[in-house]
Amino acid sequence: MVLSVETRSTAVVIPPVQPRKLAKVPFVELTDGRLQGVVSSGSDIERVYVSSIGAGTHGLSCSTNNNRPCGGLRGAFPCKHLQALLDEAELQYGRERVARYLRIEVDEHTSLLHGLKAHHEPTPAATVFSGFLRHLAYLELPGSDEPIPELHWFPSVAPAGER
Ligand SMILES: [Zn+2]
Repeated sequence: MVLSVETRSTAVVIPPVQPRKLAKVPFVELTDGRLQGVVSSGSDIERVYVSSIGAGTHGLSCSTNNNRPCGGLRGAFPCKHLQALLDEAELQYGRERVARYLRIEVDEHTSLLHGLKAHHEPTPAATVFSGFLRHLAYLELPGSDEPIPELHWFPSVAPAGER
């Protein structure tokens, strides 16, 4: 999977609270009672991890797009993909919103990660991944000047010069 950040463009429907590195975590959303997203593998450019954290339960799930369990997620300790996902969600949505959605109780000096009452709770990667592919499908849409609300997570929309 190649998602280039080089093809930068102009349109941003809802800008992230802070800029995100799209290449590392191309997809992050708060939906279906979960923070979920797709995280690039640090070592293999062809591989992505599908990671999620349940709201309230803080059930952790991480596996590859082929549904192989992530080797880094053992028991209650979040793997680096989940940590990246949480970091990126904080950039995308802001710390307060993520904490509220996931029902993480932290004071301002504690990281969201430390507020998790985490445990392993596998979520079918296919569910998360099909959401990701559905979002990607919008990129194939013929040029439109209308903002597409579902793309708020995606920093670049229309190719430059489309308007
Ligand atoms: Zn992982």
